[in-house]
Amino acid sequence: MKPVNSVYAGLGTTIFEEMSRRARETGAVNLGQGFPDDPGPLDVRERAARAVVEGWNQYPPMLGLPELRQAIAAHYRHWQGLDLDPEREVMVTSGATEALAGALLALIEPGDEVVLFAPMYDAYLPLVRRAGGVPRVVTLEPPRFALDEAALAAAFSDRTKAVLFNDPLNPTATVFSREDRALLARFCVAHDAIAICDEVWEHIVFDGLRHESLIAEEGMRARTVKIGSAGKIFNLTGWKVGFVCAAPELLGTLAKAHQFLTFTTPPNLQAAVAYGLSKEDAFFEGLRADLARSRDRLAAGLAALGHRVLPAQGTYFLNIDIAGTGEDDVAFCRRLVSEHGVAAIPVSAFYPGGEVRSVVRFCFAKRDETLDTALARMAGA
Ligand code: PMP
Ligand code: GLN
Repeated sequence: MKPVNSVYAGLGTTIFEEMSRRARETGAVNLGQGFPDDPGPLDVRERAARAVVEGWNQYPPMLGLPELRQAIAAHYRHWQGLDLDPEREVMVTSGATEALAGALLALIEPGDEVVLFAPMYDAYLPLVRRAGGVPRVVTLEPPRFALDEAALAAAFSDRTKAVLFNDPLNPTATVFSREDRALLARFCVAHDAIAICDEVWEHIVFDGLRHESLIAEEGMRARTVKIGSAGKIFNLTGWKVGFVCAAPELLGTLAKAHQFLTFTTPPNLQAAVAYGLSKEDAFFEGLRADLARSRDRLAAGLAALGHRVLPAQGTYFLNIDIAGTGEDDVAFCRRLVSEHGVAAIPVSAFYPGGEVRSVVRFCFAKRDETLDTALARMAGA
């Protein structure tokens, strides 16, 4: 038989799937893959259930239900001060993952360079490569994971077609500064590059922070593809309802990729997300406050066990630094799951070059009992 595609042939199963499987097999507490153990907001789920029963089950419009596209534009106007035309600048996809894949397929020509930042979400690199892009990876250094002008200057060139930028950043749980965004915008404008912005964690920021998108930076409105995910906004990670916002010239082409990838996204979920996005501020602030409490609970517990806990400004994640313990992150996570019954994620999985091997990620979007059980089991780890 002729060989299968080389990008996928050499890949393993994602670290998230591997750790969740190990947790199921061994009965471990799963603080690996990022998903809440609560079922999510009841009224939003009821809305989806009712939509199924009432008959929202046939193909919806390719770009998404009009009421959802309007709700997305209104939501971003309210929360981020953005001015988006729901008819021409907003599209619904099957999760942020489809939006990312579609954007790369639609924008990249074989041989185009794509600037990426490590640590990076593990889907990025295979998607860039399969789209024919040539990755140019900039490594962000702990503990701040900030952008560095010299590193950007080395990565960007006339061949740069796009940059893939995740803010807030999974797995570091950090938020880029205003200066970082302005710096990146300057490079995009100077090199005529498109920014594909993965902002799935935009609502999950703590301690009074407010998300600001790269699309709002000078010169970026026409060259940014802003990607969001209802899965993260509503703590319903399995729903896979994503949003893409971009100027009409870009969105038109992104829609061509979308029409032949998934074409649409389940209409019942779209109807429920439209309902959810229109909820009052207190709802979103409540979700955020609950997560911040869980973050603090896990952080305090891990610190009491003697771990060096890194700051977490956003996302579902909290990291510990195990440098100096004589063990790397993969060995630590294997031991943690097999000997202590707690699954976590080795952050080296997010560094294609394996540059950092001393950070371990825990998901705190869990009930108090789940976190307390994990902490009790980790005593001595
Ligand atoms: N990008 C990042 C940075 C993520 O953390 C995730 C999921 N955790 C996704 C994309 C995927 O989002 P979705 O489930 O909507 O496809
Ligand atoms: N984004 C989730 C995480 O970082 C995982 C999603 C997945 O398993 N693909 O844990």
